[in-house]
Amino acid sequence: MALINNALIIGGGIGGMCAAIQLSKQGIAVDLVEINPQWAPDGAGITISGPTLRGLRQIGIVEQVLEEGGTWRAIDICDANGNLTRTVAVPPTIGAEDLPAAAGVLRPVLAKILANATERAGARIRLGLSFQGMSQDEQGVDVTFSDGSHGRYDLVIGADGVNSTVRKLVLPEHPGPVFTGQGSWRAVVPRRRENSTVYMGKTTKAGMNPISADECYLFVLDRREGMDFIPPEQWPGKLAELLEEFGGQVGEIRQGLLDGSLPNPRLLYRPLAGHMIKGPWHKGRIVLLGDTVHATTPHLASGAGIAVEGAIVLAEELQRRHSLEGALLAYAGRHYDRASLVVRASGRLGEIEQSGGSLEEHTRIMVDAQAALRAPI
Ligand SMILES: Cc1cc2nc3c(=O)[nH]c(=O)nc-3n(C[C@H](O)[C@H](O)[C@H](O)COP(=O)(O)OP(=O)(O)OC[C@H]3O[C@@H](n4cnc5c(N)ncnc54)[C@H](O)[C@@H]3O)c2cc1C
Repeated sequence: MALINNALIIGGGIGGMCAAIQLSKQGIAVDLVEINPQWAPDGAGITISGPTLRGLRQIGIVEQVLEEGGTWRAIDICDANGNLTRTVAVPPTIGAEDLPAAAGVLRPVLAKILANATERAGARIRLGLSFQGMSQDEQGVDVTFSDGSHGRYDLVIGADGVNSTVRKLVLPEHPGPVFTGQGSWRAVVPRRRENSTVYMGKTTKAGMNPISADECYLFVLDRREGMDFIPPEQWPGKLAELLEEFGGQVGEIRQGLLDGSLPNPRLLYRPLAGHMIKGPWHKGRIVLLGDTVHATTPHLASGAGIAVEGAIVLAEELQRRHSLEGALLAYAGRHYDRASLVVRASGRLGEIEQSGGSLEEHTRIMVDAQAALRAPI
């Protein structure tokens, strides 16, 4: 007998949509509410690591991502002027050896692919909506929505991101994410190279990952004092300042930012904050997923990957356990290790970058963490 017949998912991001698809496949009636009426994230690129591609294949959307995105099998390391110094092959992921080593795609493109798959799976989607209140008893959760409507569910999944409101109900003692001391800058630029590329400046490292046949996204992290708001009209100047020590293609991009000649660069700045919350991640029939409990900095490009894997593990445990409490405990127990590896290793990489610490330690952490993530979930 199924543990649950229906579920409400709060938050239609990567984790929420993957959970909606996986639960719908099991015949569970899924309602998904998303507060953003446009259901569209900001326009920068996102890297889909090999393990994340493996997860997306299980979800059923990997072909579309590979079709619309850009892929690579190696990383080119260049000096600040764009001269190639070496190429490092990215090893294949176990169980996904036939797929490219990694891919990149525009976030809105990934969101659209997932949204179409969520609709096709049969989930009932309501946009521009959130919950107002919830109360639970042994048999279910009563939910009042922000439009005044009501529903009763066997399970509620909070997938409403790093600043989750559902988390305040499940884990009210959690203080929320912590600023890590870095900010992330991104821009969409023309693709010039086959591989993912890292440009090593004296003090700054810039990277470019393909997101389609002819575009890639530039990413740079910088050290910041706090999470102060930077008005978007200042972004081109601030990013150009960060790229001062680069020549070659990065230097051209810098010039394009300054004189406005870069076509539609879709700049994005985000201060980085994160947290890793110890399990269990549920209270009764309300459970948390994705960034609500494990939000990471992008150093391993795996935050979305662990949200996808979390959704897969949650659905699998709901299918094979004999009690809801057992399933929700097993979900956090099984997923915690991989999520914690990503958050902690990414955090340490950021610390090393800020303190100008050991390059060897940086490389070792990166290589070890990526190898561990390529193992099956
Ligand atoms: C700068 C940066 C770069 C990154 N780059 C990468 C990368 O290259 N590769 C990678 O794998 N990961 C990357 N990540 C991490 C990745 O973006 C996140 O881990 C991932 O998006 C988490 O998915 P999620 O579904 O848990 O949360 P989110 O994607 O944040 O989705 C939450 C959803 O909930 C909705 N919502 C919020 N509140 C409510 C509410 N009250 N009611 C209803 N809906 C609500 C939001 O509108 C949103 O749609 C990056 C993160 C940052 C900050």
